[in-house]
Amino acid sequence: MTKNKLVVISLDSMGFRDLNEQRQLVPTLDKLIAKGTWVKRVQGIFPTLTYPSHTSIITGQYPAVHGIVNNTKLQPRRLSPDWYWYRKDVKATPLYDVARQAGLTTAAFLWPVTAGSKIDYNLAEIFPNRIWTNQVLVSLKASSPLFLYEMNKKYGKLRNGIKQPWLDDFVTACAVDTLENKRPDMTLIHLVDMDSMRHRYGVRSAEARQALHRLDRRVAKIIQATKNAGTYAETDFVVLGDHYQINVDKMIHLNMLFEQAGWLRSIPGKTTYRNNWRVTAKTCDGETYVYTRGNVDLGRVKQLIAGVEGVEQIYDGADAVKFGADPQCSFLVEAKPGYYFTDEVNRPAIVENVDPSSLGTHDRYHGVHGYGPTQPNYFTTAIFAGPHVKEGATVDGARLVDEGPTFARLLGLHYPAPTAGQAIREIFKD
Ligand SMILES: [Zn+2]
Repeated sequence: MTKNKLVVISLDSMGFRDLNEQRQLVPTLDKLIAKGTWVKRVQGIFPTLTYPSHTSIITGQYPAVHGIVNNTKLQPRRLSPDWYWYRKDVKATPLYDVARQAGLTTAAFLWPVTAGSKIDYNLAEIFPNRIWTNQVLVSLKASSPLFLYEMNKKYGKLRNGIKQPWLDDFVTACAVDTLENKRPDMTLIHLVDMDSMRHRYGVRSAEARQALHRLDRRVAKIIQATKNAGTYAETDFVVLGDHYQINVDKMIHLNMLFEQAGWLRSIPGKTTYRNNWRVTAKTCDGETYVYTRGNVDLGRVKQLIAGVEGVEQIYDGADAVKFGADPQCSFLVEAKPGYYFTDEVNRPAIVENVDPSSLGTHDRYHGVHGYGPTQPNYFTTAIFAGPHVKEGATVDGARLVDEGPTFARLLGLHYPAPTAGQAIREIFKD
């Protein structure tokens, strides 16, 4: 296989349904499908959250192995816990490290869990989470400092803090500039516009459709940048989603149940709780982990959870291990579509309607993800196109963990250890 370049564009929350039913909104993706191979239904991982999913995409491993088992860390006293921002939290080998060791240049734009990595040109996704920090400062520590300084100087005016759609416009401008001027061998781009709109307005809202159309135009700009750079003919493109979303109107606050049972204590006047819990829920939105410590009757915990409205399924720790979720949990609990979990306490009831006027504030959503990947009509999707990819082909299904090994094969790279995923052979020309 001749040496070539790879550009991976993740359109956060893009599902199979988007490409199957709304193709008129995405003329650029439509052309890519015609010119390449569409892997239609891609099954995600437990839990279908952005950080665990992107880490599975790039390592070819499940969360139990790569260690990014959730978006955020268990920090009961904090309303807004820290995210898994840093490369050092990833226990498996991401493909950008394999590429770098093989002498390829790498670039990443808001690709999750890359802060502090050795990517050559990196704008890491990290945002201020403490009142005494500001965004530029946090990002400077997390990214390639000179690169971030240059990009911010040139394109910072496009940005409005971390609000959409301006953030994606900024990220696209930075990616275009880098593709044109640095010509990296491997480029990872993460655009979040549609996911934000779905959380706020609903999965199939007009706002989400408009975001999908904006994303299509951004993909067109990114492809054009490789043409301007003279690298188009040797570049394989991948446009993929990380998960889909499901509409919700009710919240489940399991930690209130655990407080009633005497297993944790809330902080008076706040929706947070103390660190000395014996049983705690840690949300993944559509699912929640339940952790226990000390002498706790697990049968009683399970029985109490089973009695809560909106609980669809309670998997025990052994199931979680089998699914590749956090092996430390005692239970992995799945909500029925329409419900999602929070970590909050001191709310009016364990199950509460989402007040429409609260949408857009912390943890108040119209759409969420984080359910098990086995929910109906919940597949994500992926398009491959470029010199090594079969033209005009489709593949019915694959797994999210197959994507990294497929990228590796496109670049002629090998992970240092066997991966859970396998390269999707049907996409290759030869
Ligand atoms: Zn996502």
